[in-house]
Amino acid sequence: MAAADVVLIGAGPIGLEMAVALKEAGLSYVHLEAQQLGHTISWFPRQAQFFSSPERIAICGVPLHTIDQSKANREEYLAYLVGVVQQFGLKIQTYERVTRIVPPTHDAHPQSASDVFEVHTQRADGPKTYAARRVIVAVGGMHGPRRLEHPTLPEVPGADLPHVSHYFVEPHPYIGRKLLVIGGRNSAAEAALRCHRAGADVAISYRRGEIDKSVKYWLRPEVEWLIKHNDIAFYPHTLPMRITPTSVTLRDTRDRSERDVAADFVLALIGYVMNPSLLTEAGVDLAGESRHPVYRSTTMETNVPGLYVAGTAAGGTQLRFRLFIENGHCHVVRILRALAGQDPVHINPLAFRRLDASPQSTER
Ligand code: NAP
Repeated sequence: MAAADVVLIGAGPIGLEMAVALKEAGLSYVHLEAQQLGHTISWFPRQAQFFSSPERIAICGVPLHTIDQSKANREEYLAYLVGVVQQFGLKIQTYERVTRIVPPTHDAHPQSASDVFEVHTQRADGPKTYAARRVIVAVGGMHGPRRLEHPTLPEVPGADLPHVSHYFVEPHPYIGRKLLVIGGRNSAAEAALRCHRAGADVAISYRRGEIDKSVKYWLRPEVEWLIKHNDIAFYPHTLPMRITPTSVTLRDTRDRSERDVAADFVLALIGYVMNPSLLTEAGVDLAGESRHPVYRSTTMETNVPGLYVAGTAAGGTQLRFRLFIENGHCHVVRILRALAGQDPVHINPLAFRRLDASPQSTER
């Protein structure tokens, strides 16, 4: 089995930018993606606008324009990513999930020793194995929803009922119905606003006393105004204890009193978590509350030599978000310098501006 220079895992924006950099540097690589390109963005709500302005999320030096110079939405950005893939002739093996990364085993028994990574995958026609000198993991950090915790049970009873979801797709299903949104940051605020405007009867349950201060300035005042005028019901200091097909029992965290709130639908927008098993099974250490991979900030190389992380995968499960697309471009420069001793040609110029910025607590 001929070894590629690199196996690159993940085809989100930073994965694509990395692929262009590898290609232009003349490195051989295999690009694997468990789903479709831009998968995380594909489950954003329909027409959701990015918080970052277009020039910050543009990749590979390709301008991103919107018809009214506003922020790009989900649909525009996904179409833009497809254009980038076509422009640079990128070959991405989509729907090929990496199941295991086996690092080189230099010090093993000579007969079984290997000086390359083995990357095992699963695809529709069966398992496959690749060999590579380096592996770059750019798989993002939102692999599944955070579960609704219960003080004594593994999860809130009823959390798996069909009218409960962790993904807000669009307001239409909720028009004229009672919708309970759980959570108090950007996803919850945005969904509550859109569904209220569309004609749903919206309530919010939040474990704190008021909508979080980090919610965007174009969302928070309006949600607060609607709460103040009883257009959106607000249950502060509450946690869901039980969900039935028609109601949710909320417990007040201050005095432990409980009340049933009628709900035809429940949107638990309480964040998303990373599945780090691909990294940990390869020997990558995790650190901090966010369980982020340990890596060297100058090169993005983890504690496993030859294994690199790029983009939001470097942030683990972010509790307060600090790593986004816009400050992930510099990862591409750091990795290419480490691998090829040169700078990428086609890259978002922000990559160089942020190159020496400290990547906060994710350094090793
Ligand atoms: P998030 O920022 O992680 O917020 C999760 C919310 O759920 C918080 O209010 C948290 O409470 C609450 N929560 C967490 N665990 C809980 C539990 N067990 N029970 C009850 N509540 C719980 O998630 P997010 O709002 O989905 O945002 C994720 C990222 O996407 C952020 O970077 C955000 O800015 C971004 N975003 C972007 C857009 C856009 O571009 N249009 C839209 C929405 C979100 P605490 O506040 O008490 O921690």
